[in-house]
Amino acid sequence: MGVIVAKFGGTSLSCVEQFCKVRDIVLNDANRRYVIPSAPGKRHRDDAKITDLLYLCHERAKQALAFDDIFEAITQRYMDIVRGLNLDLDLEPVLKNIKSRIREGASADYTASRGEYLNGIILAKLLGYDFIDAADIIFFDSQGMFDSERTNEEIGRRLQHHERAVIPGFYGSMPDGRIKTFPRGGSDITGAIVARGVNADVYENWTDVSGFMMADPRIVSNPKPIRKITYRELRELAYMGAGVLHEDSIFPVKKAGIPVHIKNTNVPTDPGTIIVNEAEPVCCTGGITGVAGKKGFTVIAIEKTFMNNELGFGRRLLSILESNGISFEHMPSGIDTISLVIADSQLDGKLEKVLAEIKEQLKPDSVEVYSNMALIATVGRGMARTPGIAAKLFTALGNKGINVRMIDQGSSEINIIVGIENDDMEEAVRAIYYAFVDDCK
Ligand code: ADP
Ligand code: ASP
Ligand code: MG
Repeated sequence: MGVIVAKFGGTSLSCVEQFCKVRDIVLNDANRRYVIPSAPGKRHRDDAKITDLLYLCHERAKQALAFDDIFEAITQRYMDIVRGLNLDLDLEPVLKNIKSRIREGASADYTASRGEYLNGIILAKLLGYDFIDAADIIFFDSQGMFDSERTNEEIGRRLQHHERAVIPGFYGSMPDGRIKTFPRGGSDITGAIVARGVNADVYENWTDVSGFMMADPRIVSNPKPIRKITYRELRELAYMGAGVLHEDSIFPVKKAGIPVHIKNTNVPTDPGTIIVNEAEPVCCTGGITGVAGKKGFTVIAIEKTFMNNELGFGRRLLSILESNGISFEHMPSGIDTISLVIADSQLDGKLEKVLAEIKEQLKPDSVEVYSNMALIATVGRGMARTPGIAAKLFTALGNKGINVRMIDQGSSEINIIVGIENDDMEEAVRAIYYAFVDDCK
């Protein structure tokens, strides 16, 4: 028998009807032995995600404010699901206990993790699978860093004794037993970790779209699906905002060479997207695999004549960032110029100090700061071998009057990154997408 690890996202488990689809999918293939649920997500556009409501409870409790109304909404969501599925399961004591712990000052991580924990209990009951608390098999060290080797060993050891199990996504535990969550969207990471731990044949990631599209469907209407993509390309796109799969979920499966299959819970017969180590170059999209954009960056552009001859210039520049605890995204350079692209969240309140240190220590001719920048990554494993990609990309942006402030091409030649203004991001993604896709019709 093969082993499939199947992760279901929040919209796939948002209500009774969605739980039934998940049950049918899981029970349809006996190899789907380990199942990772997210917390209930939105049932419709204006709905609330359970995880967001839980964070809100924690915020209120921290300020010694009442949170009964929000917790009641959470309780009702779970009760409706249990009732609608006709399960012989009494969640009331569990919910009561969670509420008291939040009131007594439980951490934000503990509070948020209960969304997945409760959904895991319900799904295990519905499927007739064992329930394994993620806190018992997914470990972080005392600094809060994920402990991949200890986790991998424990998953291999524990799951040997469970033919079929449900393991809640999004969290694990620290050495002192405290609950720690992954970043938002982190159930994808749990799924990948479990897939590696049991050496799965495939890691299925079930969501609300029929796989990875060439662009975010909220920006480009009806983008072309991507049937096959490499881990490296996916990492670039996911990092740049293609939200389907959390970027950190690539590492465990890539390490173990386990293919990831993105599928649509609402249309399970759609082929979806397969993510693999190597793939033949894409045809019919002019060499690109996809395009994605992310807002919220600042570019610091530094110019100094003969910078190229000044020994240690780059090192001194980077040590200013390091001493201020700032990491950077990109550092494109010319003979006399160097630019730093930094996420706004990293700079938070530190920009003036960093600029002052750059001026004092490096004595540049000029330092320009461009704020409100977005980065757009155009990614494709076939790009290196296809001439004219950059020309087509810049013509597309130029035709729309979009000003490009920064260009960076990774040495791997699978992507071209451009920096533009935040407000131009959607227009730029559309311009690039149509330049390549329309050209191939
Ligand atoms: P889940 O709750 O199942 O984990 P997410 O909301 O995290 O689902 O991810 C799926 C969403 O990712 C889609 O609904 C879509 O809006 C968004 N998305 C962003 N970029 C892309 C892309 N390139 N292809 C497909 N979906 C994308
Ligand atoms: N429920 C968590 C979140 O909303 C984790 C996840 O959905 O993957 O971020
Ligand atoms: Mg997700």
